Amino acid sequence: MKLFISADIEGTTGVTHWDETKLEHPSSLGFRQQMVREIRAACEGAARSGFREILVKDGHDSARNFDGVGFPKEVRILRGWAKNPLIMMAGLDQSFDAVAFVGYHSPAGSSGHPLAHTGPRTTSYVKINGELASEFTINSYTAALFGVPVAFVSGDAALCASAKRLCPALETVAVSEGVGNSSISISPELAVERIRENSFLALSGDLKRHAITLPKRFEIEIGFMEHALAYRAGFYPGAERFSEQSVTFFSTDYFEVLKFIFFTILPA
Ligand SMILES: [Zn+2]
Repeated sequence: MKLFISADIEGTTGVTHWDETKLEHPSSLGFRQQMVREIRAACEGAARSGFREILVKDGHDSARNFDGVGFPKEVRILRGWAKNPLIMMAGLDQSFDAVAFVGYHSPAGSSGHPLAHTGPRTTSYVKINGELASEFTINSYTAALFGVPVAFVSGDAALCASAKRLCPALETVAVSEGVGNSSISISPELAVERIRENSFLALSGDLKRHAITLPKRFEIEIGFMEHALAYRAGFYPGAERFSEQSVTFFSTDYFEVLKFIFFTILPA
């Protein structure tokens, strides 16, 4: 069996400040090591439940946050950005049996994490069908597009709660809770233990319980921090300016939605 893991850093235990997420900043070192420990724990749980192939996509910033030393031998790592519309899910296809997310975080426009954001920090919110969409939401729909179930997520408590609403059978590990510009986290060792155990539980038994139904239609609204970015995004074919700082886009095809997100919010 084959598992796809998409990993981010803001929802790693303890991460509270942007400096802690930057490869070039000395204070990120310990948190990047914890990111690796948490991914490794998810891989160990998966291996115990019978997964023999695991692809880990580094989904944060440069996507070069770790080198894979110490990962189990079942693991391959996708580093850097393919520059295709799958973004943090690059490398996923129909051949996978399940998806897991490690280190995920609350979306832009919410208060669940001091670093709540969606995509680059140029957006103030992304909504899908009227609801705030996190990177988890966007990427879970990508999994659904390929018919791959979403079994596990770790990250902040508010993200875990919203993820459960999208996929009720999902196993979650809340490693921290945002309080204003601060966070309260569990111990890094406990996070690793829980991630290892819950990824095992999530990936055991009938994986069909984790299947997500893709909506039939998608109405996307993106708010930007700067009006000029909304002006620019308004030129994407089919996009409409919704307000001075936001655009909307409609499609029944989720891959078209991913293309819209890819070309309007990501830097070239
Ligand atoms: Zn992120």
